[in-house]
Amino acid sequence: MITRTRNIAILGSTGSIGRSTLEVVRRLSDRFRVTYLTANQNIELLRQQIEMFHPRGVVLSRESDASRLRTYMGRATEVLVGAEGLEEIVGRADVDVVFSSLVGFAGLKPTLRAIEAGKDIALANKETLVVGGEIIMEKVRQYGVRFVPVDSEHSAILQCLQGEDLSSVSRLLLTASGGPFLHLDSARFGSITRAQALNHPTWKMGNKITVDSATLMNKGLEVIEAHWLFGIPREKIEVLIHPQSIIHSMVEFVDGSIKAQLCAPDMKIPIQYALTYPERPAAPFPRMDFPALGQMTFFEPDLGKFRCLALAFQALETGGTAPAVLNAANEVAVDLFLDERLSFAAIPTIIEDALAAHTPGFHVSLDDLIDADREAREFVRHSAAVHAQ
Ligand code: MG
Repeated sequence: MITRTRNIAILGSTGSIGRSTLEVVRRLSDRFRVTYLTANQNIELLRQQIEMFHPRGVVLSRESDASRLRTYMGRATEVLVGAEGLEEIVGRADVDVVFSSLVGFAGLKPTLRAIEAGKDIALANKETLVVGGEIIMEKVRQYGVRFVPVDSEHSAILQCLQGEDLSSVSRLLLTASGGPFLHLDSARFGSITRAQALNHPTWKMGNKITVDSATLMNKGLEVIEAHWLFGIPREKIEVLIHPQSIIHSMVEFVDGSIKAQLCAPDMKIPIQYALTYPERPAAPFPRMDFPALGQMTFFEPDLGKFRCLALAFQALETGGTAPAVLNAANEVAVDLFLDERLSFAAIPTIIEDALAAHTPGFHVSLDDLIDADREAREFVRHSAAVHAQ
């Protein structure tokens, strides 16, 4: 088959997903040419990636890092800076596909700009849909771009839905590993350390998502993501704990039949699917060995113990700006936990307080979401400072 080479911009190329994406793209060099890479501040790794992929330009968060990189690289690679740099490159003519693996709310605006510029999107940045799902999906329809999820659960659902009519879906079953504290008594959550929370049993990921997986907020964000992505109402989305992380999610249909997508827990599989959808090129990714696995188990999530998941369901039901507040409060709380300035047990408490303090707005604009995000961040920083006194 003859496929045109497509120009790809990878936002967040030095993170865990970004690095895996470059591995996948390297194997798909007949289909993709990397034209832009972006990083927060890992200049050394970005420099290695520039030498390997020869992008036309890169973006770094800070001017000081950008000028250091310019000194290393000379003029061969354009170096841009900050949110303006991201929003600039995603609209350029030498970009066909934007792969977003940015972390958090920072991914929202560049994704919106990319859609408005008519670019196809592969989205690993779930917070974008949590905060701005309604606006994003409206733009996706308006501009007719391809919008494919990278998150393993959503990739699984997309694969299960191939050839199916959305109106025949009766339930989405999002699976969750349950994280490292699935069997820990919640009375001991207050003493969980940063190192314990970062030790995920089945997935190797960035720090923010690893903590989110330990609190189950990650699954809550994924419920909201699935709601917007597939247009499925909250009451048809369920979470199922499946510690082996082999079934990545399931779709139940109106006749009681269920389709599941299974594979080894390796993000390169959903990354490649997002890049080549709906094609499925051969790849040397890990294969399943069912006799070695032996068994798969399932539990209902404990919402009393994992309150972040209950709060996410609540925010989705409230709607409007509530998911933006949930997300912002969580981002700041996780940062504070990673800085060892907030206990693990206090993460849901502070998010709950932020939601309670917020009067949700409805029929929201991008500016409303940005305001809700900023206010929730201020609220959490202030509350944490008061608690620390
Ligand atoms: Mg996931």
